[in-house]
This record gives sequence, C-alpha cells and structure tokens, in this order.
Amino acid sequence: MRLMENPLTPEVLADPVALTRALVDIESVSRHEKAIADCVEQVLRGVPHLTTYRHGNTVMARTDLGRAQRVVLAGHLDTVPINNNVPATVRGDLMYGCGTSDMKSGVAYALHLAVTLPEPRYDVTYFFYEAEEIESTYNGLFLVSEAYPDWLSADFALLLEPTHGIVEAGCQGTLRATVATSGVRAHSARSWYGVNAIHAAVDVLRRLEAYEARRTTIEGCEYREGMNAVRIEGGVAGNVVPDRCVVEVNFRFAPDRTPEQAEAHVREVFAGFEVTITDLAAGALPGLEAAPAQEFLAAVGTAPIGKLGWTDVARFAALGTPALNFGPGDPNLAHHPDEHVEIGKIRDGAAVLRRWLSVA
Ligand SMILES: [Zn+2]
Repeated sequence: MRLMENPLTPEVLADPVALTRALVDIESVSRHEKAIADCVEQVLRGVPHLTTYRHGNTVMARTDLGRAQRVVLAGHLDTVPINNNVPATVRGDLMYGCGTSDMKSGVAYALHLAVTLPEPRYDVTYFFYEAEEIESTYNGLFLVSEAYPDWLSADFALLLEPTHGIVEAGCQGTLRATVATSGVRAHSARSWYGVNAIHAAVDVLRRLEAYEARRTTIEGCEYREGMNAVRIEGGVAGNVVPDRCVVEVNFRFAPDRTPEQAEAHVREVFAGFEVTITDLAAGALPGLEAAPAQEFLAAVGTAPIGKLGWTDVARFAALGTPALNFGPGDPNLAHHPDEHVEIGKIRDGAAVLRRWLSVA
C-alpha cells in the first residue's frame, strides 16, 4: 500500500471518533484483516517513540522508556461478517456500522494513544490482533503467545472490548459437555422390546431444571453462574425406538473455580450418565490489586463489575497478568445488525485513558 492511500491520516489519528469511523470503513471480517493490519502497521512504523513488530495480521508496538511497570492495551481488528452496515453512518450522537461497538472504537483508543502519547507514565505495549471472533486457534493473541510469549509480558492488561464505559473485571469460564443416554433400538410397533434413550434424557433435563446456579462475589464483583442445555439430539427414524440421545450442556462458571473443579462439578451433577467434555476455557479472577489497575480504577472513578462472558483477559490471567475490560461500545449490541456506539462515550473513555496514562 502506498502512503497516500492510508485513510489513517494524522488528522484522523488525532481524533478517536474520526478514527473509529475510519477503522470501521476498512472492512476486516475475521481472516480478512490484512488491509487493516497494513494500515495500522504503516502508521505505527512512522511513530518515533514506538518499536513495531508484526506476526501474521497482528501488529504490536511498544514504548521502551525504562518505566518500572508495563501495561498492555489490546484490541482485536476483526469483526463478524458485515450486514449492509459498512461504511459507518452517523445519526445524532450515534455511529452505526459493523465493529463500531465490537470493537473498533476500542481499537481507536489504543491507536490514538499509541500515536499521540510519547511519554506515558508506564511503558505501554499496544496490540492490534487478528481473529478474535472465530475459533481460538486463529486468535492473534493465542498465536503470539505461542510464537513470542515475551511480547505479552506486562504488569497489567486492558482489553478494550465493549463494556459501555464500565470497568468489567475478570471473566467467567466456559465449559461445554455432552451428556448421553443410551437404550436399546426396537421397531416402534413392538416398542416393549426396546429402551427409549430420548425418554431417559428426561432425567438429564430434570437435573438442569432443578439446578440452582451459584452467585458469588469476588473482590467486590458479583459473578453469576449458569448451566443450560444448548442442544439436544436423538432419534433414528419415525418408526424406531432410539438407542441414543445426547444433550449438549454449557456451564458458565465463576473464576473462583478452576477448569478442573468446573469439570468435576459437571460430572457430579450428571453422575450416572456418560459425560464428555468438549470445550473448556478457564475464567479470570478480577485482578484489581495491581498498582496500574488501582490507578486505572481511580481514573475511571466508578466501581468495577464482574464480566460474565469469556474474553481474552483470561489469556493474560493465565500468564499471571491481571487484566480488565473497558470500552465504549454496548456489549448487548455486539454482533447485532443495528450495531452502534455513542460518540460521547468514545470521547469520555478516551479522556479517562489519557488521564490514566499521563504522567501525574
Ligand atoms: Zn470483541
């Protein structure tokens, strides 16, 4: 790409709102992030106070000022598939478009600060990464953690995912399992020769219906667990007593349970059934103790709440780095065809981050 084609001009980079819009207008559905990564890399390589690296379509830039602590600001460059919502449009205080909320407004924070803050109070590592919205084997942070784990080392990380301007701490873990019942196949005209596996699944569903999900408060943040059937499969033909039924269960668990404890709990709930764990991701504790986290909370000025969905903060937590979520978008609008962001919230959050990162 030639320099003159890059829409991320100095004027655009100076304004987080204009920058959000320019980033939305560069389509970047997962696995198609090359164009946006090229633009971001070209900008960062031109900034004298940053050293810039690239791995695939993930771009990392860092200051090396010899500060006592290092923080990460991270945002994913990809979006879910567009839905007639690119380019961005503005109506009043709302900017509409794919990625306005999740999470080009957050990416705009990181890119704006990277370019305009030559002497932050901590050393800062800025991550612009690919493929967060799809299977984690493609996730740019995951790929970096495999190839260059030292790129991720920091004392604190901030994920700029949509939180509507509230600090969301940690995240819940997620487990998926199949719970299977078995029976004996028979012709339905002589069903007494068989054992119906779908009928046997009633006991699985009763246990789910009766399940009392736990609520727990950790470091002042409430987490709320949930265990749900998300799919059910069974049946052979319209005249056959089925011999197998599989209920898929999703357990969202608070971060005070380890993945092993979450698995043991699910196996206990479905004792007597064939339980197979198909997906398991650890949660992340709130991580509010680290000094940069305390200073960040002071800059925001409102109390954090527990993050219920799984996010990449868990990747940092797994490396021992406390991490929080903070972004202007409304998480309820992420992946929604009407996705939008409040322009005032973009400005407010940018001011908070600048206050936090500026030398006191
Ligand atoms: Zn996101």
